[in-house]
Amino acid sequence: MNAGQTSAAARALLAFWRSAGVDMDEAEAVYAAAPKPAPVPPASSRQPPRSAPAASTRHPAPPPSAPRLRRTADSPVDTARTLARAAHSIAALRAAVAGFDGCALKATARNTVFSDGVDTAPVLIIGEAPGKDEDEQGKPFVGRSGQLLDKMLAAIGLDRKSNVLISNTIYWRPPGNRDPTQGEIVACLPFVERLIELSHPKLLILTGKAAATTVLKREDGVMRLRGRRLLYNREGLELPVNTMVMLHPAYLLRQPQQKRLAWEDLLLAQTWLSELGLAQASHI
Ligand code: URA
Repeated sequence: MNAGQTSAAARALLAFWRSAGVDMDEAEAVYAAAPKPAPVPPASSRQPPRSAPAASTRHPAPPPSAPRLRRTADSPVDTARTLARAAHSIAALRAAVAGFDGCALKATARNTVFSDGVDTAPVLIIGEAPGKDEDEQGKPFVGRSGQLLDKMLAAIGLDRKSNVLISNTIYWRPPGNRDPTQGEIVACLPFVERLIELSHPKLLILTGKAAATTVLKREDGVMRLRGRRLLYNREGLELPVNTMVMLHPAYLLRQPQQKRLAWEDLLLAQTWLSELGLAQASHI
């Protein structure tokens, strides 16, 4: 490694420590004050040493002292957990999400997109992330895939005005609709988990890979998880939650031949709701 690479590596390490919440002020001050290595002259101009090297080069300056492992601030996930735990209603959780600055996507989004529908609904649907229309309107699933979702739900007597609550895995639109990063997903997860606790749905429907893998903490793809009766459980829940995974409507818009599978998913939801005593879904 040459001097330039060493310096770049040290800077990257400092940046990593800072992002991990370590107090970097002292470390960076030490780093800035440390003698910089002398530039290496080109090979042709190098002279053989005439005398013993100067003391300063025999005992090179110590590397920047390791930063004290004192956390100056909670990490975004810790903050999200604290805020989520303190929310005792869905309205309070919505306000907590709106006030949370730990997900960098917020800086580029126009609106926080938390939920739409009935807070006390028996069915909770969790999707992936807001897109352009959702970002503009501040509501989940209002664009093309949302319109398809509404039609799918209507086919089994569900709708967001009477018996469904809809939310997402993250609450701000990723620029250009790119996939959310793990960091962004993890920062929002405490709110997602708290929403499940507070709404304690009779049926939780996870639509798409991001929601399924994030909430269930499983690596399986949607095709393996869909069509099954699952139970979602975690510490803090009074009872495990009936859960199923469904193909995402955006995927169905791209792959319309898969609507047959989506229809099977909907029939499973309808059967399950009926077994739970919510037979006439349109009247639940
Ligand atoms: N896709 C999602 O997963 N969520 C939305 O809110 C919109 C599209």
